[in-house]
Parts: sequence; C-alpha cells; structure tokens
Amino acid sequence: MKDNILICDDEPDIVFLTDKFLKHGDYKTITCNNGKEALKIIEDKFDDILLVLLDLMMPGLSGFEVLRSIKNDERYKDILVILFTVKSFKEDIQKGKDLGADGYITKPFKGEDLLNYVKDILKKKKKK
Ligand SMILES: [Mg+2]
Repeated sequence: MKDNILICDDEPDIVFLTDKFLKHGDYKTITCNNGKEALKIIEDKFDDILLVLLDLMMPGLSGFEVLRSIKNDERYKDILVILFTVKSFKEDIQKGKDLGADGYITKPFKGEDLLNYVKDILKKKKKK
C-alpha cells in the first residue's frame, strides 16, 4: 500500500527528528542519508512510497539531482516530493518548483509545522 514517507537528509539529527515527528503523526517512514540510497529505495519500493522529504544540500547526488530523476520517471509520477531548503537560499525554491517539486519546508522547522504541512499536502493530493 502506498503509505510510506521517505526521508532523505545527510544530517542525522534532521532525519531522526523528522522521523520522530512523522511517526508521532502515525505515518510510516523509511529513512536514508544520501541521494543514491534514496533513488535505490524509490526504485525498489515506488509502489509503497507516497511522499519524499528531500534535503537539497547533500554530498554526492544533490537533492536537485534526485528530484530531477524522480520527476523524469513515469513510474514515479504519483510520488510527491517536498524539499528541505535553507531559508536564505530563495533561488533554490524557484529551482525546485521548476523541476517539479510539490512543496518545500525551510530549515530549521518545528515538528508541529512539519507534520501539518505534510498532512495538508497529502489531503490536497487525495482531493485530486
Ligand atoms: Mg544537507
């Protein structure tokens, strides 16, 4: 069933906290800390993945590269992607939109805000 949220960030603290908040909201999660791993997980489990929370700045594959791969693959057309961005980099938000991101969350964020944002995006998706 499509009900997993994949969290990908190279900062362990972010992954840990995001995972904790989402589980608190009764979401199922999968975590990883680099883009290559994220793409592998998506390839293996795309039928189970509802949403990806994706960090932009990571060593190796950047979040933009991962986003591009997801959005250019027909198999993944139902997977939503929310970017973790740093507030001061406004151009990243535009670039993310251009590449097809479904939303963004600026770091640092509050757990409650993250959870509400995710809930909202998933609710909107259901309506479509
Ligand atoms: Mg990072």
